[in-house]
Amino acid sequence: MEEKTFIDKNYIENLLIEARNTPNAKIDSYLDKAERFEGLNHREIAALLVSENPGHLERVDRTALKIKDRVYGNRIVMFAPLYASDYCVNRCSYCSYNCEHEFTRKKLTQDEVREEVRILEAMGHKRIALETGENDAVCSIDYVVNCIKTIYDMKFENGEIRRINVNIAATTVENYRRLKDVGIGTYILFQETYHQPTYEKVHIAGPKKNFAYHLTAFDRAHEAGIDDVGGGVLFGLADPYFEVLGLMIHNEHLEERFGVGFHTISVPRLCPAEGMNMSDFPHLVDDETFAKIVAIIRLAVPFTGMILSTRETRNMRQRLLRLGISQISAGSSTQVGGYAKRQQISQTGNPQFFVNDDRSALSIISELMDDGYTPSFCTACYRKGRTGDRFMRLAKSGQIKNVCLPNALTTLAEYAIDYGDATFKQKADAAIAREMPTISNEKIRALTLTNIEKIKHGERDFYI
Ligand code: SAM
Repeated sequence: MEEKTFIDKNYIENLLIEARNTPNAKIDSYLDKAERFEGLNHREIAALLVSENPGHLERVDRTALKIKDRVYGNRIVMFAPLYASDYCVNRCSYCSYNCEHEFTRKKLTQDEVREEVRILEAMGHKRIALETGENDAVCSIDYVVNCIKTIYDMKFENGEIRRINVNIAATTVENYRRLKDVGIGTYILFQETYHQPTYEKVHIAGPKKNFAYHLTAFDRAHEAGIDDVGGGVLFGLADPYFEVLGLMIHNEHLEERFGVGFHTISVPRLCPAEGMNMSDFPHLVDDETFAKIVAIIRLAVPFTGMILSTRETRNMRQRLLRLGISQISAGSSTQVGGYAKRQQISQTGNPQFFVNDDRSALSIISELMDDGYTPSFCTACYRKGRTGDRFMRLAKSGQIKNVCLPNALTTLAEYAIDYGDATFKQKADAAIAREMPTISNEKIRALTLTNIEKIKHGERDFYI
């Protein structure tokens, strides 16, 4: 007997069938609504998902571009993952950390954490996502909290890691409180799939098999005071349209219960990994469908950041950045100790999955600027207490522009001086000169210019 949750499989399946009968005029009205930045509810999203009308699809793309441009401008927030432990008690059919897979597992010592962080910082990263497999005996909450303290305690000549988002398995209110107390940014957890029969099939054994417990993780995180949570699904496990509706219903559930939905949504797509075979997964998502999904999520939740990782190729990243992605990783390793190993060129342990964009952080960031984007290393929001509904209120009022853009420009100036070569510095100067006039508040523009001058004279870490 399936435990009743706020995700009702039959309801979602019927919605997708009924949505096919949505009159064109209704779909037009949904697109009008999205164009006014009012977002969409899951019923409206269902109609857009199943529409194959070229006119509607073209308008979805155009509206996604418009929202992206108006809400996020050219800014793209940069981050990198840090894998601390690949010990795992779960048997997930898609994941190389599956406890049945035999390989030499590894958990970083605090010294090794420092070594990884040193390398990440030398790449210019200021924001990381800390990731672990699930194994309470080896990788307890104490260990995770210690890693976070170790990382926050490290100071370098050019700065430090200033925001740690955490992606660890669903856990208890008490453990979430520990994460809250140590000062995490966003608590990230992918539902993997909202389709319960598929969820139970791909999670063959282990605590992660419990669909309801995993699904209610953010409820417990909120109860513990964590109001910045980031959702996602692993596209490729079940019908992608079903997944989008699951995500949106989850978002609405959090909005209803806690007054604020997802701070970010991640859109990982299944990648080849050691010990799994892509041909065993019948719902792999093609590029066209994936781009359509990203654009529709952009319309549905215009103020929710969207995260893309190095799972995607360079071409796909370029395409999706236009449609709604606001945060990407660069220079990533998905292996425990992977940054240090990359430098020593020795290979032990499994990457969690194989990345598709393995260029250096500097080349990805540099190319972003060639494409007209402004890479941002901003970590200000949670440090300024702009989390949960406070962030959303600011975003919805449009005022966020007077905060995010200045922070993007000061952190880009910092990055260029500390990590860029001569060509990069020129590009950064040009991007800053281009974007500066678009800060509408005169006082903030003046302050940003002053702060950039101070950065040039050796001061660091300005944010508003
Ligand atoms: N152990 C935590 C949990 O249970 O959610 C953290 C998960 S893991 C470190 C981060 C994410 O990698 C997973 O949630 C999953 O979506 C993703 N992942 C695992 N195998 C993958 C694959 N073959 N391709 C793409 N993403 C994968």
